[in-house]
Amino acid sequence: MLKNIILMGPPGAGKGTQAKRLVTKFDLIHISTGDMFREAIKENTPLGALASSYINKGDLVPDDVTIGIVKERLAKEDCKNGFLLDGFPRTIAQAEALSKIGLEINRPIDVVINIDCDKNELIRRISGRRVCKNCGAPYHVDTMKPKTEGVCDICGGPLYQRKDDNKEALEVRLQHYVNETRPLLEYYEKQGLLKNFDGSQGSDKLFDELSLLILNK
Ligand code: AMP
Repeated sequence: MLKNIILMGPPGAGKGTQAKRLVTKFDLIHISTGDMFREAIKENTPLGALASSYINKGDLVPDDVTIGIVKERLAKEDCKNGFLLDGFPRTIAQAEALSKIGLEINRPIDVVINIDCDKNELIRRISGRRVCKNCGAPYHVDTMKPKTEGVCDICGGPLYQRKDDNKEALEVRLQHYVNETRPLLEYYEKQGLLKNFDGSQGSDKLFDELSLLILNK
């Protein structure tokens, strides 16, 4: 089984949804830098204060800060049986730092999964996205409605719209993806680690494809 995994793709491609299902199925540690920042913002920590000034505009949090929190998380004991990085790395500097960290702690990356999706579909998904405030479960106002409006099916928590899921911030996020993150695909392709998947297909079908990859079948 492949156990040290990077999940890449533009905002709205389905990374978060797939990540949640994959870590449950394969018992991997889910490391989402976006979730870590949102948690810090909720708890009013100094990291949260710094991160929110970037996140709300759709900008990337500076590399040294982001690399620091990932380095600390990856070194923890529970990552030894496998982890799934969701939303990291997003820049070449982050990818290079991750390779170095992987060597230092002897946890190298086994595979890089890239989920791609057409821009109009990304905008449709992100602008209608709602997220549970408690457990982070994703919903959509048209295509993935909860049973009771505004309430999470899984934990009963309230649903909300992320501050950076508006048109202006999304444009900025997509630009950062094109300029800073997409070049990583070539970086990992050259290392023979990249596997591409179609994010516009149904979520269940994509999950089956990703599961087969992880099982190395
Ligand atoms: P996400 O939940 O992955 O969409 O991330 C939400 C926001 O958190 C991004 O738009 C960035 O502002 C910030 N962020 C998350 N991961 C990173 C990263 N690897 N590098 C820099 N900023 C990040």
